[in-house]
Amino acid sequence: MKRRSFLQATGLAAVGTALTPNTLLASNLPKKKPFTIILGSGFSGLGAAKQLKEAGYDYIILEARKRVGGRVFTYAMDGLTCELGAEWIGKSHTELQKLNDDAKLTMLDHTYETRLFMDEKYSEVGQWGYDESISKFQAALQYMKDNETKALQPLDKIDYWRYLQKIGMSEKNIELRELIDSTDFGETIRNVSAYVALGEYAFSSEKNEMDYWTQGGNTGMINVLAKNAGEDKIKLEHVVTVVSQNKKKMKVTCSNGATFEGDRIICCLPTFAMSKIKWEPGFASSKKDALDQLQYCRIVKTSMLFSERFWKDESFDMMTDTLGHYFFHSSKLQENKKGILTSYAIGDKAYVLSKMPKEKKMKELAHCLQPIFGDIKPMMNDLISYYWGGDTHTQGAYAIYDTAQWFGHREELIERSGNIFFAGEHLAEWQGFMEGAYISGMDAAKAVMKS
Ligand SMILES: Cc1cc2nc3c(=O)[nH]c(=O)nc-3n(C[C@H](O)[C@H](O)[C@H](O)COP(=O)(O)OP(=O)(O)OC[C@H]3O[C@@H](n4cnc5c(N)ncnc54)[C@H](O)[C@@H]3O)c2cc1C
Repeated sequence: MKRRSFLQATGLAAVGTALTPNTLLASNLPKKKPFTIILGSGFSGLGAAKQLKEAGYDYIILEARKRVGGRVFTYAMDGLTCELGAEWIGKSHTELQKLNDDAKLTMLDHTYETRLFMDEKYSEVGQWGYDESISKFQAALQYMKDNETKALQPLDKIDYWRYLQKIGMSEKNIELRELIDSTDFGETIRNVSAYVALGEYAFSSEKNEMDYWTQGGNTGMINVLAKNAGEDKIKLEHVVTVVSQNKKKMKVTCSNGATFEGDRIICCLPTFAMSKIKWEPGFASSKKDALDQLQYCRIVKTSMLFSERFWKDESFDMMTDTLGHYFFHSSKLQENKKGILTSYAIGDKAYVLSKMPKEKKMKELAHCLQPIFGDIKPMMNDLISYYWGGDTHTQGAYAIYDTAQWFGHREELIERSGNIFFAGEHLAEWQGFMEGAYISGMDAAKAVMKS
């Protein structure tokens, strides 16, 4: 796993180790295995349950929604499948690959060949690219690979966009990187720590971890984990509202009046969900500040069902400076005459799209494709859209670490609070991915076992 070895090489993993609770209370081993209450049934919560179960620990999972999986959200459309949440499994995501293998799920190639529509001009694959100042960017990635954390830490103090300016990238290259890279972070690259951004690109696979997809939908992985965790152990529609702890017991109260007692809690919730819970006693002010300040990006995924695949190439995708932002062929390798193109729009574009009624969305997105394919609106049979910026529990798609947050906020948020342990996408060594969320849950469970 490239990024993990990067973290080890740069020493950040050591920071993580110092902060994890494994080393704390080691001498205070409980006589019986603690009963653990897991908050959230996303990849992190299910990862925690998997680890606890394998070690013979008992637990319960409390989930606010009517379904498991959180930000993994597969949607079926007329015999085809698309993802309204997490899409790609990366080449580095070995835990997810193992999960697919063990469960005999098939991973399909989910890579694309990118076209560009920018400044009213359409360019085919291979007909567009960066000018020679991209060498400065490549040198910056090499610098990331060659240096220790201490030398790299100042990069966390500057945003990615300004950093590209400073190293002398041309305006054209910066504009292209903004268009393309903002889809990775879900907001403008002016809101991203240069350390986080360069770390992402220095260690990603050639296709930037956009490599595979689980045939039938990523929810297939979730269903396997949920079944293994034990469906009787997962309490759906249980919105946690109060968590109290004293030296002996943890008590969790839900909005439906149900209460649960346990010895440990693994909190696998996004920060917005955490901030809505009453924690008794409250967190330290530095943790509260981090909870309030870490933002999540706004993404809307809009999947359009077409009566035919007029884009022809199964690996079609396109970056565009129009409202749709990034279009890709969701139903790649799914046998059918019909096909799904998905628009992946971020930031303000996502918000604007999310406000449109369905018919207007159809019209606007057809308009984005019109210069390349002509009038495709009559072939659009249906459209489904999900705006994560408005999701009740997340208010965003994934965490976006702004300047001076990676080395501050993440460390605050990951730190154990009494008998509460924390996990989730936002705390992963390589955040923003299912893989990281899954590993963070397993790590939190290991910490519980050692506590
Ligand atoms: C649009 C989008 C695109 C993405 N693309 C990719 C991708 O291509 N590849 C990739 O690897 N990852 C991608 N991700 C990220 C990936 O989805 C997440 O990293 C991962 O699924 C997060 O898992 P989690 O367990 O940390 O959080 P979640 O999945 O959010 O799980 C948290 C759970 O807690 C529940 N909850 C919230 N509040 C409460 C409460 N008060 N009480 C009880 N339960 C509560 C929620 O309902 C949820 O089920 C994407 C995400 C989005 C939204």
